[in-house]
Amino acid sequence: MIKIIFINTLRRVRFAPSPTGPLHIGGLRTALFNYLFAKKTGGSFILRIEDTDRKREVAGAEKYIVDALNWCGIFPDESPGTEGAFGPYRQSERNHIYSKEIRRLVESGHAYYAFDSEEELASCRKECEKRGETFIYNYESRLALKNSLSMSKGEVAGLLKKSKGHVIRFLVPKNKNIKTVDVIRGESNINSSLLDDKVLMKADGTPTYHFANVVDDHLMKITHVIRGEEWLPSLALHFLLYDAFGWKRPSFAHLPLILNPNGKGKLSKRSGEKGGFPVFPIGWEGETKLTGFKEYGILPAGLVNYLATIGWSPKESSEALSLAELVEMFQLKSVVSAGANFDLEKLKWYNHKHIQEASNEFLVDKIQALDISAQKTERKQLAEATGMVKERANTVSELWGLMEYLFLDPKGYDEKSLKKIKKDGLDKICSEIISLCENTNDPGGFIDSLKIWGEKNGFGAGQIMMTARTILVGGLKGIDLQKIISFVGLEVVSKRAVTFSEMNI
Ligand code: GLU
Repeated sequence: MIKIIFINTLRRVRFAPSPTGPLHIGGLRTALFNYLFAKKTGGSFILRIEDTDRKREVAGAEKYIVDALNWCGIFPDESPGTEGAFGPYRQSERNHIYSKEIRRLVESGHAYYAFDSEEELASCRKECEKRGETFIYNYESRLALKNSLSMSKGEVAGLLKKSKGHVIRFLVPKNKNIKTVDVIRGESNINSSLLDDKVLMKADGTPTYHFANVVDDHLMKITHVIRGEEWLPSLALHFLLYDAFGWKRPSFAHLPLILNPNGKGKLSKRSGEKGGFPVFPIGWEGETKLTGFKEYGILPAGLVNYLATIGWSPKESSEALSLAELVEMFQLKSVVSAGANFDLEKLKWYNHKHIQEASNEFLVDKIQALDISAQKTERKQLAEATGMVKERANTVSELWGLMEYLFLDPKGYDEKSLKKIKKDGLDKICSEIISLCENTNDPGGFIDSLKIWGEKNGFGAGQIMMTARTILVGGLKGIDLQKIISFVGLEVVSKRAVTFSEMNI
């Protein structure tokens, strides 16, 4: 059978972070939506590192981005480590491309050289401020400034030869209506006179975000630009850049923001600190160490499932959905434009669901990665115990605490629980537990035998159960008592009861 692939109809999307620090979950959600959208039709998800601003670059950030995506099960089809046909995928390695493309814009009259120094521009700003105006480098001011539009060809050639720091600016047309289209937000109109002549090439010969971004999206054959709402104000400029080059524009979709839980502003590290939750997917080992959702005990599947519901809802499903299921259901058209508050409880709810679906063996790896005491525990037993307690856990980090007593003797006894069991006959119940351990070889019938003894000796089932539980667990908590006894075995039950009786409570 001959398989025909229509390359042109395949979706190509990109996630284009700047490596300026650890990836925030807002960025991760953008990556996720790009991924879901591409994979639904078998398209390509590209990771492009936008590292043109070397001053803001942070060591380890690129690796963090890749690790965080991979932790979530998102593997780019093309990236700095997985070169495809459109590389390099790091903007710092593409300068030869930008130099060539900017020349085309200058030659076609859409961009021009500007020689104004920082000091000169600062004084223009000051002058305008004095008059209560804002300085804009645009159609009104450009001819009074130092650039290749206002100066003679000879002067310009002279200055260029000296190659003293000059920038290249975009010549924004005057009074042109720019009709922008966004898949989520629809059409809007903006007058070009409101825009400034943005710098496209900086004095050090490297491109600015706007220029490199548009050039790369075109050359990498990106069909859909899906990015955060914060880039919406740049859309008109990007439309003009595409027009200036005479290039076909990709479709654009600007995703709604993830807001702080209290509704005010973009979800920030500070509001996470206040609410006691991280805003990063995995831990960051930079100068300041940051905890991620991974260390907080959230499974990648739980985080991915929750993030997918921010701004989009996978129909009326209340089920835990895997990445593959989300891919199946995703609809860019049904993403909403309104921002959504981060909701820790909802995240935990999804995580709880994914914990139930995960195999015990898988969870053991996660538990042992988080808890030193759990690392000393035998895997098979740990897996069995995990199966017994996981329905009570919202995070993986809670799991060890929920089952610790199945492996370790109580370190102490909860005061409130002790108060409840301190009644006449406490020592008798305790002795009976010890002697029953010696006289029975049926751990599975332990509680029943204890209750029968209680009936004969005037102790209610409640009192007996509470006493045994406190002895075994250290307090009135934990799973079914008989299950605990069967799991730990009679030797441990006896040992804990002896320790308890020696405390003379
Ligand atoms: N480098 C930009 C960022 O850090 C990319 C924006 C875009 O996707 O166009 O978010």
